[in-house]
Amino acid sequence: HAASQQGVGWKVHDPATSGAKEWTLSLLGELDQAIQSGQIWVAYQPKLDLATRTFVGAEALVRWTHATRGPINPAEFVEVADRHGRIGKITSFVLEDAAQLVKDARQWVPNFTVSVNISPSQLTNREVIDMVDAVLLRHDIPAESLILEVTESAAMAEEGTAQALLEELREKGVGLSIDDYGTGMSTLEYLRRIPASELKVDRRFASALATNAQDQAVMRSTIELAHALGMKVVVEGIEQAETLYMLAGMGCDIGQGYHIGRPADGTSLLELLEPQKHWAFTG
Ligand code: C2E
Ligand code: MG
Ligand code: MG
Ligand code: MG
Repeated sequence: HAASQQGVGWKVHDPATSGAKEWTLSLLGELDQAIQSGQIWVAYQPKLDLATRTFVGAEALVRWTHATRGPINPAEFVEVADRHGRIGKITSFVLEDAAQLVKDARQWVPNFTVSVNISPSQLTNREVIDMVDAVLLRHDIPAESLILEVTESAAMAEEGTAQALLEELREKGVGLSIDDYGTGMSTLEYLRRIPASELKVDRRFASALATNAQDQAVMRSTIELAHALGMKVVVEGIEQAETLYMLAGMGCDIGQGYHIGRPADGTSLLELLEPQKHWAFTG
């Protein structure tokens, strides 16, 4: 699968040689066409339940395989689209694809969930709520099948509005994950207040876990804290078997990372589930 190779070899844009402004404008101008033509597509990375060793969900990660430039780093074009008020286009495309994926996945794994990333600016107005309502209705999937991932800084900005929107989504039953946890500046007060169902620990805390005693202490107490607040814990960026064993032993609920599975197209993700396999704990 060519698509399974996504995630490596991004072309890094160099503003010094190509002109940041030109690059930005040309990307924006091509956005609609790229969505229509299939250059923009959605990769899925599996989420593994560490207790049952089964796949329980997947994260939707947008991809842009440009006709001439090749794969464009998603963090880069997402930021550009966001800055120019075009992120809604991407989000509604990803939500649509993700809703179909989770509907298909639920034929094999009844409680399967799909996670969709939401940008900070989208917590300042109701557009995302309307999108979610529409997609749940159109695909006839339960709110519980969808998790929205929001970074801690995003959920803290525009406090009043973001908080109200997130609460409304949670009341519908949509899951809410605090993404890249541990890299921002969330306070304990914030953690207590935000209606999240999941805490997603940033991959920098997974990278040296197996060998670093301090990271282990931080991880242990983070898992305990999240559980005490009624949240599930996901750790992203698991690249080694040792990290996975250790997290399972610490009572971490869910793992995600290259060692478990790389982001790949929807068909590849569905193949992992059919029939539901127990993921082998092998190095
Ligand atoms: P994120 O939401 O924190 O997604 C996790 C990133 O870590 C993904 O990068 C994924 O490919 C990568 N990753 C997963 N496992 C491993 C691992 O074991 N090791 C390492 N080194 N990396 C791993 P990706 O796909 O490049 O996405 C980057 C960021 O772009 C995402 O970070 C998210 O913030 C944003 N993004 C991606 N898709 C969307 C989208 O549809 N909407 C919005 N708003 N943002 C998106
Ligand atoms: Mg994410
Ligand atoms: Mg993350
Ligand atoms: Mg990230």
